[in-house]
Amino acid sequence: MRMVDLIEKKKNNEVLTDEEIHFIVQGYTKGEIPDYQMSALMMAICFQGLNKHETATLTLEMMHSGDVIDLSEIQGIKVDKHSTGGVGDKTSLVLGPIVAACGVPVAKMSGRGLGHTGGTLDKLESIPGLSVMVEKDDFIRQVNDCHLAIIGQTGSLVPADKKMYALRDVTATVSCIPLIASSIMSKKLAAGSDAILLDVKYGDGAFMKTIEDAKRLAKTMIEIGDSLNRDTRATISNMSQPLGNAIGNSLEVKEAIATLNGKGPHDLLELCLLAGSHMLVQAKHATDLNSARSMLEEVIDNKKALDALAQMVKAQGGDDNYIYHPELFECAKEVIEVKSTKQGYIKELEAKALGLVSMKLGGGRQTTEDTIDYSVGLILNKKIGDYVNSGETLVYVHTNIGLSKELENEIISAYHFQDEEVPEPILIDDVLS
Ligand code: URA
Repeated sequence: MRMVDLIEKKKNNEVLTDEEIHFIVQGYTKGEIPDYQMSALMMAICFQGLNKHETATLTLEMMHSGDVIDLSEIQGIKVDKHSTGGVGDKTSLVLGPIVAACGVPVAKMSGRGLGHTGGTLDKLESIPGLSVMVEKDDFIRQVNDCHLAIIGQTGSLVPADKKMYALRDVTATVSCIPLIASSIMSKKLAAGSDAILLDVKYGDGAFMKTIEDAKRLAKTMIEIGDSLNRDTRATISNMSQPLGNAIGNSLEVKEAIATLNGKGPHDLLELCLLAGSHMLVQAKHATDLNSARSMLEEVIDNKKALDALAQMVKAQGGDDNYIYHPELFECAKEVIEVKSTKQGYIKELEAKALGLVSMKLGGGRQTTEDTIDYSVGLILNKKIGDYVNSGETLVYVHTNIGLSKELENEIISAYHFQDEEVPEPILIDDVLS
């Protein structure tokens, strides 16, 4: 078999066989196929697509390019959750504890943030002492003991994706639905859970800009999950503005803790209750969504979900006092108010622009080597639908480097106003299964 013939085949919109896809993934992972041929193939896939069977086969081949975790030593149905990423997205820090506190094992492998989107691992590492690098046996023991572990992906999980994603990133081939779906699902499947709840976001702060693309991506991932007998569902949620009010690592952990104390922003809570209800049903821990929701509300009310987070933090070497006393988190040197120069109802709030401001303050990474300042970020005082008077505070900026005029202007121009009232945007458009 020759790679050049397979590139030609895909360029001509022909279907690749299972053996050909095996040859491509194996050959590229082992370094036998060079980057220039793989990037030509990726580009051909961007233009011609992959059919259902090719996408499932590509996912399986990628999944088997490295270790596949066996979670069978964890009792019960394990449900994993994956968000396609957004600004202010701290759902894992709420969803993990509420689902675990109901007795469902959550064994989750998460990623780091890059660019305008934050990563769960970075947020967790803002808790002093907490380690996300946990050995497999400890991971399994921890989930059996306290039902919850959120750790970093091991280096040997889906090496094909690591190489392919890095190549796609520099060859303009990231935004291609079958490639995104196989990248995400290969990692989720290799991580070993029995069922998967996906939160596919669309809008300014998300990978998918339109709801139609978000649904297409969700359907493709559900088909992959179904083909491997994993109950896979997807919430389709709006990322046209940040989720909750906090953007930045420890600020987001504090907001997640507030939510577990019943005092969080309602959009974050609503998304977590809906996604969590599906996870309890997927785990066969509840027979219907209403009873699942009541269970989740109860573990927030009786603080069992907060305890679940504290137990996880302690098990991973972190100081659990921070969960019960979030005022212990180190604060940024200064909090600067950014005030509105206009008045009216907020009709748009550019999530990506605000995510980038937080990154530039030191809260995120421009390149994978950058280090993070956990204490900095933004607290939004106004969101879509709010009425704002000129001179009112839009955002509180937590900073250790002051606030340049340029960054202040970036925040102000992320807000767009109109005179007429604006309804609150719909947060969750659909749940697909
Ligand atoms: N996230 C992933 O893990 N892979 C992609 O291709 C895109 C987003």
